Amino acid sequence: MKILVIGSGGREHALVWKLAQSPHVTQMWCAPGNAGIAQERLAKNSALVECIDISADDLPKLLAFAQEKKIELTVVGPDNPLALGIVDLFQKNGLRIWGPNQKAAQFESSKVFSQNFMEKYGIPTARAGTFSDANTAKKFAASLGGKCAVKADGLALGKGVLICADEIGANKAIDEILVAKSFGAAGAKIIIQEFLEGMEISMHAICDGKTTKFFPTSQDHKRALDGDKGLNTGGMGTYSPTPFLSGDELKKVGDQILNPWLRGCVEEKIDFRGILYPGVMLTKAGPRVLEFNARFGDPETQVYLTRLENDLVELLDASVNGTLDKIELKWKPAASVCVVMTSGGYPGNYEKGKPICGLDDAVKLPGVKVFHAGTAKNGNEIVTNGGRVLGVTALGKDLKAAHAAAYAAVEKIHFDGAQFRRDIAAKAF
Ligand code: AMP
Repeated sequence: MKILVIGSGGREHALVWKLAQSPHVTQMWCAPGNAGIAQERLAKNSALVECIDISADDLPKLLAFAQEKKIELTVVGPDNPLALGIVDLFQKNGLRIWGPNQKAAQFESSKVFSQNFMEKYGIPTARAGTFSDANTAKKFAASLGGKCAVKADGLALGKGVLICADEIGANKAIDEILVAKSFGAAGAKIIIQEFLEGMEISMHAICDGKTTKFFPTSQDHKRALDGDKGLNTGGMGTYSPTPFLSGDELKKVGDQILNPWLRGCVEEKIDFRGILYPGVMLTKAGPRVLEFNARFGDPETQVYLTRLENDLVELLDASVNGTLDKIELKWKPAASVCVVMTSGGYPGNYEKGKPICGLDDAVKLPGVKVFHAGTAKNGNEIVTNGGRVLGVTALGKDLKAAHAAAYAAVEKIHFDGAQFRRDIAAKAF
């Protein structure tokens, strides 16, 4: 099978790495990919995965490439092409593609859509309101005592959520999005949610339009600094499983979210094939969905795919074909920890092009896999090329072992200005 993966981050490296292990794959391309992806080889014939210089948002070029190479399955990593309707476009042209169509991707591309859907179908979520007028929004924020999350409706490069501690902060956030329009059209509307306290976990379910299968839980670390301090980032590290829900509790929480969600999808004629990733706060009053994403989380993908035993091609095929009911998800009993190494200054300004050394030594450690996110090749060197640079991931017999192996690998890797959190998975201990 010829496969095209779209995207260039750690999530896409993990997808490529796992897909490359499948005996079904004869050729694989990644658009645009990164330096780590370009080093992966297929288990079937040792062929290298080829990175092609097409951006993940350039739908016409991606379509032309898939048609020219007769791609048999395209796998979409990031949210943007999904929101732009890449799945609809490829299907209209007779190409098989994995991911939700544009209507289904609204669960991520519109927070207003998601919030309304959750309220209509009884999915447990935060108390919230939708606004396009700043004065009405401020009154609602005041009714919550100013402690709230102000969220731009549309996609805003992961920066559209402002957490506010008081009324002054809430008013500033509302003005920033609705009046100063700092997120452009993505902020034409906002939702304001009550601030929820509790343990935040990531949940992922693979869906095929009628069947959903839950993954084990994982936990991301969104803030840049240890102890959940500093600015919000795309994710500084993950681990799986988490100790916060037993198997029975996970099933219960999953049913509370997915049963009404599926009922709503049937009612609204939403055919969701792909990953549904609800961000969930485990509050004292029970689980509450903060938001839905319509794709794999990054860096969650890196811990999930190192634990997944199933052939990923067969799993994604079943999600496209509507035959997930015939598949049983199998997970290694081991734990996985991913520590993200970033460029100095991230999530603010940072420099690129710093040579990375020690990668070969790191991967010699047992159970370690280094996924590349923002890397590029410069001659024979691998250099930094983004904010999040590497996802240093390790499998171990339990979380403690995985944690020790991941940090031992991080210690072997060096580049100028490298930053990472030292407390990934600490909440589990
Ligand atoms: P979102 O993109 O909507 O998941 O928001 C980004 C991050 O903001 C989440 O991962 C949470 O840490 C935090 N957050 C979002 N909504 C709330 C809320 N209602 N209460 C507390 N924290 C929140």
